[in-house]
Amino acid sequence: MKGYIHSLQSLGTVDGPGVRAVVFAEGCPLRCVYCHNPDTWVCREDDLTESGELFERILRLYPYIKKGGVTFSGGEPCLQAEFFCELAGELRERGLHIALDTCGEVSGQAVEALLDLTDLVLLDIKMTDPDSHFRNTGGDLSKVFRFLDGLEARKKPTWIRHVVVPGLNDSEDDILRLGELLSGYTCIERVELLPYRSFCEAKYENLGIPYPLKGRPQMSPERIAELQSLIKQYESRSDLN
Ligand code: SF4
Repeated sequence: MKGYIHSLQSLGTVDGPGVRAVVFAEGCPLRCVYCHNPDTWVCREDDLTESGELFERILRLYPYIKKGGVTFSGGEPCLQAEFFCELAGELRERGLHIALDTCGEVSGQAVEALLDLTDLVLLDIKMTDPDSHFRNTGGDLSKVFRFLDGLEARKKPTWIRHVVVPGLNDSEDDILRLGELLSGYTCIERVELLPYRSFCEAKYENLGIPYPLKGRPQMSPERIAELQSLIKQYESRSDLN
């Protein structure tokens, strides 16, 4: 089977546990204002790749990733769930751990099958209220929480990731609301707050796409640490984790 594959990152360390191969799929249903990968939004015929060929390229990395694993990212890998099922099946036969990095807005039988083959889900929760989520991503927040409900029903290990952007979702109220929304989900092992970075601006320029957050300051590591401790306090009060 062929899939639209943007690239393979060989030694990733931020998309799941350990050292990992990260496969970036093409195609995404959202248009997040802070997206770092606008070059993955569109599927290009030139990038069609056989799953067997990708499997061989990943296997060459086996000595480095055997204790980490492989992460499917993008773009949105669930848009090509059948392709990733085929790839995940082969990788799992070699004992590799599979993580799925998803926006949680794509559903269906093939996605359920992919979840069966996934050890860990990295679920991006981008905004904490439906209007802001729609304005800043074009998506439907209720779908994301239905997806999370499905992960809870499966008891699927899940890490939540939340990009924090100055002036957009960086108030204490925003982070407390995130904590409230996540309380009660026992599948959640970790909540990661990720600082907004503007280094993707050049990609937008090269693609000729206006950058929606032009001039927005970077998120400071100190502020992220403060907010992370806030959600930790909240987690301990609400028995998250
Ligand atoms: S879901 Fe990810 S790849 Fe898609 S637009 Fe948002 S940040 Fe970019």
